[in-house]
Amino acid sequence: MISNDELLQSLHDHQIELEMQNEELRNAHIALEESRTRYLSLYEFAPVGYLTLTQEGLIDEINLTGTTLLGMERHQLINHRFSALVASKDGDRWHLFFQHLIQNNFEHDFELELHRGDNSPFDAQLHCRLITDDDKLSTIRVTLTDITQRKRIEVVLRIVSTAFESHGPMVICNANKIILQANRAFTEATGYTQEEIIGQKISLLKSDHHDNAFYAAMWEIINQTGTWQGEVWDRHKSGQVNPKLLTISAVKDINNVVTHYVGSFIDISDQKLAEEKIKHLAFYDSLTQLPNRCLLQERLKYSIEMARRENKPLALLMLDLDRFKAVNDSLGHMAGDELLQQVAARMTARLRTVDMVSRLGGDEFIVLLDDIAHPDDAARVAKEIISDLSKSFQLSQSDDVRIGVSIGISLYPQHGCCPETLLDHADAALYQAKDQGRGCFAYFSESLTRAAQERIALEVRLRRAIEQDELHMLYQPQIDLNSGQIIGAEALVYWQDPIDGLVPPLGFIPIAEESHLIVEIGEWVLRETCKQAKQWLDSGLFPITMAVNVSSHQFRRSDINALVASVLQETGLPAGQLELEITESGLMENHDLAMDILNNLRHQGIRLAIDDFGKGYSSLSRLKYFPVDVLKIDKSFIEKIPFNKDDMEIATTIVVMGHNLGFKVLAEGVETPEQLEFLREKGCDAYQGYIKNSPLSAKAFAELLAKEQSQGVLSTSSA
Ligand code: C2E
Ligand code: MG
Ligand code: MG
Repeated sequence: MISNDELLQSLHDHQIELEMQNEELRNAHIALEESRTRYLSLYEFAPVGYLTLTQEGLIDEINLTGTTLLGMERHQLINHRFSALVASKDGDRWHLFFQHLIQNNFEHDFELELHRGDNSPFDAQLHCRLITDDDKLSTIRVTLTDITQRKRIEVVLRIVSTAFESHGPMVICNANKIILQANRAFTEATGYTQEEIIGQKISLLKSDHHDNAFYAAMWEIINQTGTWQGEVWDRHKSGQVNPKLLTISAVKDINNVVTHYVGSFIDISDQKLAEEKIKHLAFYDSLTQLPNRCLLQERLKYSIEMARRENKPLALLMLDLDRFKAVNDSLGHMAGDELLQQVAARMTARLRTVDMVSRLGGDEFIVLLDDIAHPDDAARVAKEIISDLSKSFQLSQSDDVRIGVSIGISLYPQHGCCPETLLDHADAALYQAKDQGRGCFAYFSESLTRAAQERIALEVRLRRAIEQDELHMLYQPQIDLNSGQIIGAEALVYWQDPIDGLVPPLGFIPIAEESHLIVEIGEWVLRETCKQAKQWLDSGLFPITMAVNVSSHQFRRSDINALVASVLQETGLPAGQLELEITESGLMENHDLAMDILNNLRHQGIRLAIDDFGKGYSSLSRLKYFPVDVLKIDKSFIEKIPFNKDDMEIATTIVVMGHNLGFKVLAEGVETPEQLEFLREKGCDAYQGYIKNSPLSAKAFAELLAKEQSQGVLSTSSA
């Protein structure tokens, strides 16, 4: 029998046992609750939305993140059709995907646009998995992520990569300057393929154009300021070095540490070429490609400085071509240009590379001799140039063109210590050289400066001479070679200067031509000569031709026709007694105008003569059409008869040619019986010269004429 106590004890034990079990159960329950809460919280607050969809596409479950993403309460979403949230543009795609998922039981990602409760859209990524339970009932577990931000970045990246490809050459390097990416323009511009260049150091493109300090400074600026722009000469794969305008920018992370460099450039080769061209135009003569005045002055400044430091002389040679104008006038400007180019080439070939030949314009050249040991060296070079340039030139229009050159020399330090003075003094020396005759050179000296000053003073005095009637005419007889009779007179103007005495025409006519005074002098000469001739006529002398020289300047720049008409009218001299002498170059220059003037003069009944024939360059084809009566063989071809065969041939040719063209031919400067005999033999028509008479005063001439006409004398030439 179980005692009460025992029973009580046993109950008590049971109770304790139960309480202990209860306690365990309670603890297990608490633990379960805690784990459920933990799980729930994990589920609800997961970083992605979780949804369960039924096979019909209804939302069965959704976590809190899902409701937040979709912007609706859970109770609104449960049993809501998921497709109602899908943007209409993605509706069909979603439907197909969903069917496919159910039928094929696969697991897949799907991107689409969803609409939140407030109808605002967002880009979403779904990860979907079909779950089939024991009852063969399927549900679909869906993970939902908002990828709006990622999509936006993707768009930006797409734009950036299009921009990267569609712009000029661009390259991206990492912080170690290793190339990570290069666009097509970059590979094309550098000559490397993508494969060749990716992974290489950017310094692969370096050329020797810049030193290391240049690159060091460049990177220093990039790293400090974040960007650098400048001109860089890079080497193309082919080895060619090209100039570029390069921009490099540093890309930094949030900690301000450089992660990448982006480089872009523009090829500026063409621009550089254009710059070079402009520079060339500014400093070089476009016709001859020689340095121009500007570059010469720069160089001269530098050379003087060097000469001063090294205590060495230098020489400046100023050149002026003789007879260049005649070539230009008769053969045309194209021929003139061609000649200048050949002159430039000949001089460049003659001189050493250290010497500088430049063209000042027209037919003026300057040679700078930098490195001479002795002042005499300059004369030697000048002589060589004179000899070189006196050789025949072959032009396209004529294969035997001969010119000459006059050279003026100034020396540093004797004649000046600055560019301007040396140039001025070389110019003065050039004048002196020309005065000595063609093909000469002269040094500058004090006496030369004085001569230049005197020339200026002379011009002033000449102006006064005209006003004060200090000019007077001398007349040189012109004789018919067959009859020996005086048939004409050449009127020559002389200046009776109160200081210098009798000045011959060449002592002042060239200066008068330079200063336009020639027009006034020419008018006076014409009037005076016609007056004189009329007077002789009136006094009973037989009519003779009066030859008056007309300077080419006067011929072209003044209305010679009107002047002749009025003087003839004024004086009453018959037009047929007046002959105008015009030089070859005067006629060839501005040919059409000359033709008009000549035709007009001829129309008035005037005779026309070409003076100094053979000295210039006449175009024979043109000569034929000039309404000319007489060719006057230049005295330079007469003076060496009978010693110079060439001159004799030229004189003979002029006679034959003149006759063929229907002109009379007169030889000037006849001094010896041999010359006269030669001319007679060749059939020359007339002559003038010291053999008969030097220029005579009007009175002496009239007496001679009266005497000969009364005697009906035959020529002295028969003597
Ligand atoms: P030109 O027209 O050729 O005149 C001929 C020159 O030859 C004259 O020189 C004359 O004195 C010179 N002469 C004559 N016979 C001989 C000779 O046998 N031997 C040598 N060696 N020379 C001889 P001039 O008088 O000194 O005149 C020189 C130039 O001045 C002339 O050359 C002419 O071009 C120019 N001239 C003279 N008077 C005038 C003028 O009134 N107006 C213009 N525009 N020019 C003039
Ligand atoms: Mg003359
Ligand atoms: Mg003459």
